[in-house]
Amino acid sequence: MLKDNAILIFELINYRWSQILESYNTAPRICKKVRIIDEEKIRRKPLSRYIKYLDVENPEHICFICGQPVNKQDLAIDHVLPWSYLYSDNLWNLVYVHGSCNSSKSNNVPLEETVHRLEQRNIKLFSLLKEATSKDKIVAELKFANEHNLVRKFWVSCQG
Ligand SMILES: [Zn+2]
Repeated sequence: MLKDNAILIFELINYRWSQILESYNTAPRICKKVRIIDEEKIRRKPLSRYIKYLDVENPEHICFICGQPVNKQDLAIDHVLPWSYLYSDNLWNLVYVHGSCNSSKSNNVPLEETVHRLEQRNIKLFSLLKEATSKDKIVAELKFANEHNLVRKFWVSCQG
C-alpha cells in the first residue's frame, strides 16, 4: 500500500515538485513556470470523474469563488492553484465554480484567504470521504495532500 502510494504521488507531482525543489535551492520565492517541451502531449483529462467526490462535500454546488449556487448548465470545475503550475488534476485542488467565475484561464496565483479555504475544504472533504472510500486512490491522494500541506507548499512556491 505504501509503495503504491509512493508511485501514485510521484506520478501526480513529478514535474512540478522537482521544479519547486530546484527553485528553493537556487532562487527562493521565485515561481518559475515550468517549461515542458512536450507540454502539448500532456493531455487534460475530463474532470467529470471528480464530480462524485466534490458532490459529497458540496451537494448544493456553491461556487468556490463567489459563494453563490451554480446552475447545472453553468457548473464548472476549477483548479484553485493553476493547472499550469501542477500539470495535474488533483481532487485537493479542484472546486466547483460558475463557468463565468472560472479562474483557471487567468492562471493567477490565489490569495492566502483562498488557500486557507481550500485547506479547510480538503479537511472536511476527507472526513466525509474516508470511510466510504478508504481504498480509493483519489481519496488517498487527498489524505496525502492534507497530511503534507501540499496546497500551501505549492502556493508558497508560486509566490512571485
Ligand atoms: Zn461564482
